[in-house]
Amino acid sequence: MILTIKEILKKEVFTRENIISLLESEGEDRTLLYKKSAEIKERFIGNKVWFRGLIEFSNICSKDCLYCGIRKGNKNLTRYNLSDDEILAAARFAYENHYGSIALQSGEIESPYVTNRIENLLYRIKELSAGELGVTLSVGEQDHEVYKRWYDAGAHRYLLRVESTNQKLYEKIHPNDSKHDFNNRLKCLKSLQNIGYQTGTGVMIGLPFQTMDDLAGDLLFMKEFDIDMCGMGPYIEHADTPLIKHSGKLMPLSERLDLTLKMIAIIRIMMKDINIVAATALQAIDPMGREKAVKIGANILMPNITPGKYRDSYKLYDNKPCTDDSAEDCQSCLEARVSLADAEVIYGEWGDSKHYKERRAK
Ligand code: SAM
Repeated sequence: MILTIKEILKKEVFTRENIISLLESEGEDRTLLYKKSAEIKERFIGNKVWFRGLIEFSNICSKDCLYCGIRKGNKNLTRYNLSDDEILAAARFAYENHYGSIALQSGEIESPYVTNRIENLLYRIKELSAGELGVTLSVGEQDHEVYKRWYDAGAHRYLLRVESTNQKLYEKIHPNDSKHDFNNRLKCLKSLQNIGYQTGTGVMIGLPFQTMDDLAGDLLFMKEFDIDMCGMGPYIEHADTPLIKHSGKLMPLSERLDLTLKMIAIIRIMMKDINIVAATALQAIDPMGREKAVKIGANILMPNITPGKYRDSYKLYDNKPCTDDSAEDCQSCLEARVSLADAEVIYGEWGDSKHYKERRAK
C-alpha cells in the first residue's frame, strides 16, 4: 500500500520505501517533511547551534579517493602541514572566543610520527584550555590502538564518513585496493564506537551512480549503527579528480542541495537527539545553504579557523566557500547566519550529542 507523506510522517519507524517517498517529496509534501523535522529539532535539541572551530591542519594524504581534491594523486595543489605552534594558536583562538570545541581535520596518514604528534597535540590543547575545549578528530582510518591512544589523550568525538553504505558504489568511487577497503571503514567505525567516542558518520549526496535506494540504505545504516553525530553534504565535483569524467551523469547542484536538506530532515526525524552538522559544502551551492539546514534540523556549525594562507589549499571540491576569510570573519558571518535561521549560538559549552549520553546510560 502506498502511503501519503502525511501518513508516513505519523509513523514511528520508517521503512526503506517510506524513506524513498520522503526523498522524492516535492511542494507541499516537502514542506510537511521540513515542518516535522524542525518541530523535532525544537523539541529535542532546542533552537540552538554549537560551534566546532575547524582546523584543517594538513592536506597531505596517502589515499586516492576518486572524488577528493586533496587525494594523493592530485599534483595541482600545494601541500601544507601546519606547525604545532600554528595548530595550538588556532586552538587558543577558539578557546579565547568561547567556542566549546574544535575539530582537527586533515588528509589521512597512518604512521607512528602522526600518531605521536596528534597525541601530543591533544594533551597540549587540553592543557592550554584547562581541559575546557572539546575536541573532535577527523583524520580517517587508523588502527584500534591509535584511536584508543587519542581517546585517552582527550579526543572524545570522531567523524569518519562512510561515504556510501552501498559497497558497490563505495568501490566505484574509490580505487580498488586494500587501502580503500569498505569493510575496513566499517571496522574503524565499530572501533571508534567501542572505545567510547561520540561516533559520527555521513555520506556524500548526489554522487554519480547513486540512487534514492542507496540514500535510503545510508539512513537506515545510520539508525542501525546507532550513530551519535551525522555529517553529510552534497558531492561537488573537483576538476582535478578522476570522478570528473562522470560529471555528465550528475543531477544539477540545486537538486543535490535539495536532496541533502531532505536527508538532514529525515535523519533528524529518525534519530531525534543526535548532533547534525550543517556542512560547508551546502554553502558552496547556495549562500543560504547552511541556514536552511539549521532551520530544518542541523545543530552544529564548523567555523573555519585554519590560518587564512592555507585555506585555499584545502580544496576538497571546486568553489569551496570562505577560503579568503579570517577566523574572525568566519565567526561573525556565522553568527549572523545563525540568527537568520532564528537560532542561537551557544558559547562555552561542548554541545555533546544527547544521543550519546542516552546510549551510554542504557
Ligand atoms: N581524511 C579524513 C577522512 O577521510 O575522513 C578527513 C578529510 S576528508 C577530505 C573529509 C571529507 O571530505 C570526506 O569524508 C568526504 O566526504 C568529503 N569530500 C571529499 N571530496 C569531496 C567532494 N568532492 N565533494 C564533497 N565532499 C567531499
